[in-house]
Amino acid sequence: MLEQIEKAQERFSVLDRVPIGLCVIHRDFTVLFWNRTLEQWTKKLKKEIIGTNLKTHFPQLDEPKYQNRLKQVFNNGLPAVFSSQLHHSLIESNLPNGKPRIQNTNVTPIPAIKGEGFYALIAIQDVSEVTHRIQTYQQEIKHRLVIEEELNRAKTDAEAANRAKSEFLAMMSHEIRTPMNGVIGMTELLLDTQMSPTQRNFLNTIRTSGDALLAIINDILDFSKIEAGRMDLEKEPFNLRNCVEEALDLVAIKAAAKLLDLACEFDAGVPDFLYGDVTRLRQILINLLGNATKFTETGEVVVKVTAKPIADKDGEVTQTKLVSEKDIELDREASSQKPALNPAAPEPGAADFNHLEKSAISNYEIQFTVRDTGIGIPPDRTNILFRAFSQVDSSTTRKYGGTGLGLAISKRLSEMMGGTMWVESEIGKGSKFYFTIKAQPAPAPLQTLNLNAPQPQLAGLRLLLVDDNATNRKILTLQAKSWGMVVRTAKSGAQALKVLQNQTMFDLAILDFHMPKMDGITLAQKIRKLPQGKNLPLMILSSGGRPSMREIQGRVEFAAFINKPIKQAQLHEVLLRIRGGECSTNQPCFIRPQFNPELAQKLPLKILLVDDVYVNQMVAGQMLQKLGYRADFASSGKAALDALERLEYDIVFMDMQMPKMDGLETTRLIRQRFSGDILLEKSRPEADFSPTVEKIENRKSTRPWIVAMTANAMQGDRELCLEAGMNDYISKPVRLQAIVQAIALYDRETGQSNFNAVRNNSQAEPTDSISQAEPKNEMTNVAPAVDEIALAELKHLIARAGVLISQIEAGTQSEAAILPPNSGGILAVADNIQFPTLTAVNEPNLEEDKFSNSPPSAPENSLQIAESAIELPPLDSQTFEELRELLGEEAEEFWIELVEKFMEVAPPKLQELADAVNRADAAAIKALAHALRGACTTVGAMPLFQLCAQLEQMARYESLAESEFLMQKILAEYQRVKAALLSSY
Ligand code: ADP
Repeated sequence: MLEQIEKAQERFSVLDRVPIGLCVIHRDFTVLFWNRTLEQWTKKLKKEIIGTNLKTHFPQLDEPKYQNRLKQVFNNGLPAVFSSQLHHSLIESNLPNGKPRIQNTNVTPIPAIKGEGFYALIAIQDVSEVTHRIQTYQQEIKHRLVIEEELNRAKTDAEAANRAKSEFLAMMSHEIRTPMNGVIGMTELLLDTQMSPTQRNFLNTIRTSGDALLAIINDILDFSKIEAGRMDLEKEPFNLRNCVEEALDLVAIKAAAKLLDLACEFDAGVPDFLYGDVTRLRQILINLLGNATKFTETGEVVVKVTAKPIADKDGEVTQTKLVSEKDIELDREASSQKPALNPAAPEPGAADFNHLEKSAISNYEIQFTVRDTGIGIPPDRTNILFRAFSQVDSSTTRKYGGTGLGLAISKRLSEMMGGTMWVESEIGKGSKFYFTIKAQPAPAPLQTLNLNAPQPQLAGLRLLLVDDNATNRKILTLQAKSWGMVVRTAKSGAQALKVLQNQTMFDLAILDFHMPKMDGITLAQKIRKLPQGKNLPLMILSSGGRPSMREIQGRVEFAAFINKPIKQAQLHEVLLRIRGGECSTNQPCFIRPQFNPELAQKLPLKILLVDDVYVNQMVAGQMLQKLGYRADFASSGKAALDALERLEYDIVFMDMQMPKMDGLETTRLIRQRFSGDILLEKSRPEADFSPTVEKIENRKSTRPWIVAMTANAMQGDRELCLEAGMNDYISKPVRLQAIVQAIALYDRETGQSNFNAVRNNSQAEPTDSISQAEPKNEMTNVAPAVDEIALAELKHLIARAGVLISQIEAGTQSEAAILPPNSGGILAVADNIQFPTLTAVNEPNLEEDKFSNSPPSAPENSLQIAESAIELPPLDSQTFEELRELLGEEAEEFWIELVEKFMEVAPPKLQELADAVNRADAAAIKALAHALRGACTTVGAMPLFQLCAQLEQMARYESLAESEFLMQKILAEYQRVKAALLSSY
């Protein structure tokens, strides 16, 4: 053995210093070799262990699981592995920190030096650190999994909370907007009435505060929607220029009040029509324009629009041409020869966005710049402006109001449209807000004029343009020149006069009204004194209602008045009309803002307003009246359907929330019943150049054009409305501007506009007999109601009250004062009423009988009728319900009044009647029974009414045989009525 040990030392000495624990053992477990690493790990020195039996040091080696595997090594030369995960260590050792070392052990057979079989080379690897690291990783992963789970749970909770928040916001918005509708709408209407300056002042404060509150609510709602990721953008074709001009319209009055010049400039390459969300784009522009006018005291506010085609992935602009350039030119020529706005040649027709694939470019980046000459923004504040709730001046004494949300919302919206927003500004000089969007061009509707091309009718027209504002001069010059006109500009009145004195001939002059030194009117007066200016058609640019007619009257005659900001289409229209001799000094043209009280004359429409709330009907009805429209009303979904059965309406303004049948359901039914066949012809594709058959299914119906009016302003409501078949959506409180925009959209989308046509169904005419029937007070005068049932019920109630009053009065007067039926006044109305609630009772038709000459057949068996009548409850419960519907909370008080008066009047009348019956005085019986039955209707005592009516009829034909018996019944029935009345309050 000694020899074997020695040989082993020689043979394995190279392994003495390797950082693995190594030892060699004989098949009888005698240790032949023990390296230094093992010495260090086990603290067992070579000299102690070599030559000894390893099992005496590590008894676990005796365990069968080790014995068996080691036997394989010794006898068969098969290696064995003992991993740390599965086995205890063969040769244990501890780490310096006292913890057991984690070891992987490989046992390799080595041919024995002497004799048969194998030695076992035990190689031990210290895997403590690796294992420790793995364990740490595992723990970390476990920890992360736990966190992830917690995060997921938190996310789900947050999402649920967000949903709850959105729902809460929707509810809040509805709750706040509904009363705001009444407040703001009524204030607007009140402001139009006569009142003292102080009252007007108070009212103006209410309106401004209401507007401010509403703006804040809208901002907060929008911001929450964006934050919650619930703001979805539309992709519909729209007219870009209209969108910008509509936004300018909204700030025009404010700008004019500050004498600011407002203008918009379109670069030549900007496409006219785009696909996108016009409402949200307009919102951004309104916000920037609103800020610009707010923070500018003098100078100008200008919107500039430029566009550049976006290169596709390969860096090339897409060049797919679906039609030849020639086709486009031909089309332009054709359309420019029949301008839709030229009243001489109106060409109504449905808009057709499929007509031409005009654009060869798949995508544009449109850049908008809103620049002002206002207070500017300090450089260190420009970066925080786009954060929510941030304002440059955040002191509590700040001069300008606002939530500080507008820019944050606008920037997010422009980003959602594929662009961004930034600002350049200089303190005291002004600011330039830029934003971009990405959008696909949309084809133009068929009959749209291409006003970006030369206009043959205007070519060569010599124009003198006088404006002190350089931007306006530039914009107008560019525009007029692009139409082929010859333009000469002047910065002031003096310069203009000089140009004219130089014998230059002009066909037309455009004069700005507001110019320093010499205003437009003074200049015009001077022009008229020059020989070449005597008959020169003059057009004045006005703003904010100035110059007024009073300022002009008797001083000078103009051919046309055009409002700033100048709109391309309006300018074109007025130039054509001047050229055609339509606008002259004798007969000037007024191109006012599109939204004027004569809108109804230009665009006559039959409008139905569906709303169950009376105050809302009044507000929207009055607003429509301001535009010259007389709307018909329906106070329920069913009434709306009935109205549509009777008449064809162009536009239906539809409330969303109504009892029984809401606006969505009503719309679905309208679409099913009235719109089916028009669906295909008059609609437009959703967002695609080439509508397919399937697409057609999705198109919107346009008749009647249904506009939702709702106090719900959350995302999803709009979609719900559109899905139900509505065409447009305005939110409450309803604003005049929103109504006008809705009408304008209807006009654009349906191509119904026919400005020259006089339609037979003029708004001035009431639409049904009921609308004429009743004298109306100032408020209700506007709107003839078509909701006949509601109106009949209303009349019924008024009549009941009226009858009572008359009867009460009559009771104190002589019998002669009792009005016979149909002799006029309220009683006449009462007798004409049909009592829808009385169908269970066979009411004798007194009126019919009265007018026929033949005597009526006497009641076949009046006793029987009387019995059957008495079986009914003494009071018709619907009476009070109707009263409550009409008067709300006041109903109870009114009811008490009615009952008290009835009980005051009825007993003496009954006594009189009984006396008359005793006397068999037919005339008195007739009059008294008639008076009593009238009183019965006021409290809904219908069986008593029935009995009195029978008695009256008997008296009328002097067939009094059963009158005493009937009188008994009447007295008994009165007791029932009295008991019921006393317990009714
Ligand atoms: P607000 O509702 O307060 O106007 P915005 O987000 O629209 O909210 O604007 C934030 C702030 O940015 C404004 O309060 C104002 O201090 C500044 N600001 C915006 N536009 C202009 C501008 N055209 N000129 C000067 N300051 C501006």
